[in-house]
Amino acid sequence: MYDLDSFMAEVERKNPAQPEFIQAAREVVASVIDTVNSNPLYLKNKILDRIIEPDRIITFKVEWEDDNHELQVNRGYRVQYNNALGPYKGGLRFHANVTLGTLKFLGFEQIFKNSLTTLPMGGGKGGSDFSPKGKSDQEIMRFCRAFMTELQKYIGPDTDVPAGDLGVGGREIGYLYGQYKKIRDENTGVLTGKGWGWGGSLVRPEATGFGTMYFASEMLKEHGDSFEGKRIAISGFGNVAWGAVTKASQLGAKVVTISGPDGYVLDEEGINTPEKIAYMLELRASNNDIVAPYAEKFGAKFVKGRKPWEVKVDMAFPCALQNELTGEDAEMLIKNGVKYVVETSNMGCCPEAIEAFQKARIPFAPGKAANAGGVAVSGLEMSQNAQHYNWSSEEVDQKLHGIMKNIHNACVKEGRCADGYIDYVKGANIAGFKKVADAMCQQGY
Ligand code: GLU
Repeated sequence: MYDLDSFMAEVERKNPAQPEFIQAAREVVASVIDTVNSNPLYLKNKILDRIIEPDRIITFKVEWEDDNHELQVNRGYRVQYNNALGPYKGGLRFHANVTLGTLKFLGFEQIFKNSLTTLPMGGGKGGSDFSPKGKSDQEIMRFCRAFMTELQKYIGPDTDVPAGDLGVGGREIGYLYGQYKKIRDENTGVLTGKGWGWGGSLVRPEATGFGTMYFASEMLKEHGDSFEGKRIAISGFGNVAWGAVTKASQLGAKVVTISGPDGYVLDEEGINTPEKIAYMLELRASNNDIVAPYAEKFGAKFVKGRKPWEVKVDMAFPCALQNELTGEDAEMLIKNGVKYVVETSNMGCCPEAIEAFQKARIPFAPGKAANAGGVAVSGLEMSQNAQHYNWSSEEVDQKLHGIMKNIHNACVKEGRCADGYIDYVKGANIAGFKKVADAMCQQGY
């Protein structure tokens, strides 16, 4: 039998100075421990001891030259966490605060997220402490080439298939894929998020944001509610936030905020015209990591150095970084009457925030369920690559919609409490975990 505290004490001892990984691990283990303890097969197979340990961790040196011909050294990583369900699958994050602990937390979450999609994908994550902020396009290309020169030794279309994450979008995937091809001379589905016309899937750029809104719309339906007239706060302004804003306005909601490290924009008229939405893409492409220019351009309010969770809204969608919504932010949202919270960033909410929402019986969806649309369409990109064929955007969008609906149903099935409240965190963890655990038992050690 497993005991949560003694199991986690051992995990902490083995993984010092990795607080984000410990946070993610504790949440999953707490959700599934009763399921494990009541299943003799899981106990005999020591499933928790095995699932918590990554299959392998690869680190490598990335040397590149900046525009002043000065040599730069960064660290690259790939965490190949678990391949019980399929090839390792998960994004690459380029961000100054990336550490091994960050990528272990993301890789661990990815196992269960990918399982929830029902597509045959294992879990992995990678990246670098390289910051794209303020870099020229040429510098980004040189970094990507140097990074892939090392990474290509460890990946392949049936082994490990990276994609984008923070700081890695279509441009970076292009440079990474170009270098892979140069070295290996192969056109395969080794990366997803590729460009349209050279192996990319339609709807992949929008998929995370669209998927989160499809999930939210199921959540609303479950509670006899709809998007019509809802006021929404979104954080971030990158690829995920862009997709979320686009779909929310199509579904009849009004998004009033986006944010960056510099503060947040409050646009009372709604971020809903094609011009405003397209401008978000320009902001990201500028490599400046600021959102203030939006306010200037469209005459909206800019609130410097603060987060959007102080605005009165019906729904909140954190779409930026881990732990971006704290316990205090949650209290503020609850005080202002928030009705639903849909975590769209990976582990966007601190444990205290989740606890506060759940205590107030506000439906709260965790990122591993709500943001699974991105990796789901990556899985569909792999299917199209394997067939050497492309599906229409309607076909992909319809499949994405179906996947998000199924994920919602799986969360409800495993997460309904005695009082009728749906604990989406527990539901997502149990549903995602069971498939991986069963596969591990069936495949032996
Ligand atoms: N980085 C995304 C995620 O967190 C997408 C990963 C992928 O497409 O492989 O799920």
